[in-house]
Amino acid sequence: MSDNLRHFSYIPMNEKSHENTYADIIMPVPLRRLFTYEVPQTMVSMIAVGSRVLVQFGAKKFYSGIVATLHHTKPINYDTKPICQVVDSTPIILPAQLKLWQWISDYYICALGDVYRAALPSGLKLESESRLISNPEFVADTLFDEKTEMVLNFVEQQKSCTIAELSQHCAPHNPLPQLRSLIEQNAIFISEELRDAYKPKKEPFYSVNEQYSSEDGLCVIMDKLEKAPRQLDTFMLLMQKLGGAYGIAKGNKVGRSELATDDRVSFPALKAIADRGFINIEQLSISRLKSDFEECEPPHQLNSAQQSALDAIHEAWQTKQVSLLHGVTSSGKTEIYIHLINEALREGKQVLYLLPEIALSTQITNRLRRHFGNSMGIYHSKFSDAERVEIWNKQLSSEPYQVIVGVRSSVLLPFHNLGLIIVDEEHEQSYKQQDPAPRYHARDVATVLAGLFKAKVLLGSATPSMESYINAQQGKYGYASLTTRYADIEMPEIIPVDMREEHKQRMSVGIFSSKLKEAIDEALKNKEQVILFQNRRGFSPYIECNDCSWVPKCNNCDVSLTYHKSTSQLICHYCSYTMGVPKVCPECGQPHLSPHGFGTEKIEEQVKSAFPEARVVRMDLDTARSRKAYEQIIGDFEAYKYDILIGTQMISKGLDFEKVSIVGIMNADAMMNMPDFRALERSYQLIAQVSGRAGRHGKRGKVYIQTNDIESPLIANVVRDDFKANLLWQAAERQQYHYPPYYRLIYLTVKHRTEVINRNAALMLANDLRAIFGDRIMGPQAPMVNRISNYYLQRIVVKMERSASPSTIKNIIMDKVNNLIGDQQWRNVQVVVDVDPN
Ligand code: ADP
Ligand code: ZN
Ligand code: ZN
Repeated sequence: MSDNLRHFSYIPMNEKSHENTYADIIMPVPLRRLFTYEVPQTMVSMIAVGSRVLVQFGAKKFYSGIVATLHHTKPINYDTKPICQVVDSTPIILPAQLKLWQWISDYYICALGDVYRAALPSGLKLESESRLISNPEFVADTLFDEKTEMVLNFVEQQKSCTIAELSQHCAPHNPLPQLRSLIEQNAIFISEELRDAYKPKKEPFYSVNEQYSSEDGLCVIMDKLEKAPRQLDTFMLLMQKLGGAYGIAKGNKVGRSELATDDRVSFPALKAIADRGFINIEQLSISRLKSDFEECEPPHQLNSAQQSALDAIHEAWQTKQVSLLHGVTSSGKTEIYIHLINEALREGKQVLYLLPEIALSTQITNRLRRHFGNSMGIYHSKFSDAERVEIWNKQLSSEPYQVIVGVRSSVLLPFHNLGLIIVDEEHEQSYKQQDPAPRYHARDVATVLAGLFKAKVLLGSATPSMESYINAQQGKYGYASLTTRYADIEMPEIIPVDMREEHKQRMSVGIFSSKLKEAIDEALKNKEQVILFQNRRGFSPYIECNDCSWVPKCNNCDVSLTYHKSTSQLICHYCSYTMGVPKVCPECGQPHLSPHGFGTEKIEEQVKSAFPEARVVRMDLDTARSRKAYEQIIGDFEAYKYDILIGTQMISKGLDFEKVSIVGIMNADAMMNMPDFRALERSYQLIAQVSGRAGRHGKRGKVYIQTNDIESPLIANVVRDDFKANLLWQAAERQQYHYPPYYRLIYLTVKHRTEVINRNAALMLANDLRAIFGDRIMGPQAPMVNRISNYYLQRIVVKMERSASPSTIKNIIMDKVNNLIGDQQWRNVQVVVDVDPN
């Protein structure tokens, strides 16, 4: 890795030098290069690597960029423009972060600007629609030339306008040179959208008017309030909150939210006291971040299996950076994490605890909060941008959160002295960002980030990814395991159900096998809960004409539309194209259109008719799109407001329900038959994770797996709870067919609106690559869905030996891609690069 990193320079600039200073800037644009600007002499002492600067980009745009390097080398082949403004007095990107950005850009073949855009909350970015404002206090030292005068007048008249408006409506042909000089002289400000975008939260603060802040003054107030007892009472409470006479003399202030915790405080009375001039009320900024958590609990005492695992992790870390904790669900992995976090905190180190989006529920954060209280911050993509700006700034400050619990993108937060990264559910595919670039894998980025700090990494899972497991087997990673659940709760019994047999014997009821039906009846009778899993939302995957087999497809994509019964719509799950259900088949005119296959919505309908007494809730992207809806459903199910929960893989992660005794996997075949080299690895993981929801407390749970493919080795492995056998079986296939983790994969997806152009461009690129890499290049081929949102897709797959130098390969690939997209003939062809695809 380290040889890949370009070295950003932190040498202090020699201020006496008469040489010009230049800055290489990271711009928020998808180009894989830095841009050099001149640093005006007046700014040399203010500018630093990692600060934002405002620069003109192209003819019309202004952007905030990040200073990556400072140097004295004038670029040879172009004239540099000066930097307009240094936005930050201290860097907002730390040195280690810049190195990480560079690594991401090199490894995932994307622009530094892509990483910049992904990392910073929008409140810290400044894009080109910036508004210009004239400075009312500006007095010119000299007369302006005519053009400059026109620009200034225009902005003054408009009060505020965008740079685009100025260019369009102001007389000089190109007003930007004048604008730049006006900005330099502080005659015009760029009202940074960034300052507008991020607004601190405010609330009223109360303090005693300085005139009365002595003890005598306070007596005067109390005398005068004598006749208004309500005001007097409230004033006494206020005095208390301000820390008595001593606090008042110091000028203490107290916020409304704190006063409101005491319901004896009357705000109308406070207003009246303020109107009489005794106290001041002013609006002050407050933090959005909560910090009122009570005392922290110490970690629980580990049992002996957990203690041995902890010891094994420590021992592996002596010689290895990364360790894998392979522990069955409910074995106490989280308890071990809590111990390790405590150790890191005692050494004064920061900790990053990564969780996949869907596993970051209040269940886990509340549990961690009890141990880490105010030293822990949560970073979630559903947070408001303002909150994310505040977390970013707090992490830069001298009092950062010591523990960050967050999703994928929290690997991009600033850290000062990271000591430990935990990647929980490390096998989860949502750690990989699909779109847009950077298409990074947070687990892999985490190990690089840890390397920059010489920090340790713990990967945890009940079903490790093949990548990590093989790394552990080969001794690159340490390995520790927990094979039993905590407090000897038994692993669930897994019962495969042969659906072909059920159908033949006519035993099944709709989508329920007789076995599952009986088990659910029994559970409901015993007041236990049931979870039904189906990896597909909607009512049924598609509808079909019974007479001519016509299937409605998306207009923009090459996929059949999914039938949603509750809204009576056909919806494309790729682009959201929606249409009503036709009454008759448009092909043959017959009215016999019927649903095929089934999704969660259809299960819900059948559950309601098969178990009319049961209280049923469904959780999928349609019912739990917002975080709040998601937590509501989980909370209600936990509180036993429902008997049966139906869901997609949203229900499989990190949830712990007391009363669940039965889990039904409605159709295992849908997972097993996915056209994806990871399908059987994933199916095992999903089944194991969903099974982990059964029988966590109390008696042994049962998991029913309905399948048409009862002979599949996967089913046997699941029944025997033999993770290793399944993994080694799949690993052998991967090795034989040249797939990860034995080979590196890169997908090049060629996109264009016209099918033949796209096909020909892809063929040319593939041929160019094949001339160098031979049969390591596959395709081009249309992917499973070969048109999305009106773009045709062709995929080229690159398979490389692990031993080959990744940077050399990537350089060659990018040369060829750039040749292609730079060629007039292939104008508008796009190539999406995905390294280590999911
Ligand atoms: P995992 O993370 O492997 O799924 P958890 O850490 O959530 O397992 O443990 C499962 C349950 O057992 C939790 O309710 C947890 O509080 C409890 N538990 C595990 N280890 C201990 C321990 N050493 N002391 C007390 N409770 C424990
Ligand atoms: Zn038809
Ligand atoms: Zn579509």
